[in-house]
Amino acid sequence: MALNGFLDFFQKGKTFRPKKKFAHGTIRYSLYKQAQASLNSGINLRAAVKLPHGEDLNDWIAVHVVDFFNRINLIYGTISEYCTEQSCPTMSGGPRFEYLWADGDKFKKPTPLPARTYISHLMDWIEMQINNQDFKILARLHRVFVHVYIHHFHNVVAIAAEAHVNTCYKHFYYFVTEFDLVGHKELEPLAEMAVKICKDHPI
Ligand SMILES: [Zn+2]
Repeated sequence: MALNGFLDFFQKGKTFRPKKKFAHGTIRYSLYKQAQASLNSGINLRAAVKLPHGEDLNDWIAVHVVDFFNRINLIYGTISEYCTEQSCPTMSGGPRFEYLWADGDKFKKPTPLPARTYISHLMDWIEMQINNQDFKILARLHRVFVHVYIHHFHNVVAIAAEAHVNTCYKHFYYFVTEFDLVGHKELEPLAEMAVKICKDHPI
């Protein structure tokens, strides 16, 4: 029943931001389809993130940035009702990590914000940047994983979505480490967990 509840979220399209799509007939669309087909066939995730022979690395990264943007929005969308200014007055990932928002525009200096507001600004920023700065986008998207894992994992467990979130994180982790796209410092809050889920559930 819990699984059905989780699948309902997908069917209703309960996502924090509208899903992004690639135009049919483009190279990126076919690469996206190729990447999805590999994932659906249950292939080893560490192998699935590797650049296919003869493909362009920038296209490969761009396809994954959009895919992770969509998937992380879906994950955050499933728990966003629990992420309030009261429950999460800062964008933190435990006592050692607090993220401050700066965008060089409205927020010139790093500014503490409630997690919900921070994530909303982060997703707006990505929607404006989606075709460039793929590296920075992935580092910032990782912060949503950190917040969800550290502060909302019990909400994820309550809707029986932990296997889905873990698989998505594992795929993200393999991808960004394969191409060295997110710095060690950004990955640190979930580093111990990454070692654990990648070791305990080799697929
Ligand atoms: Zn929260």
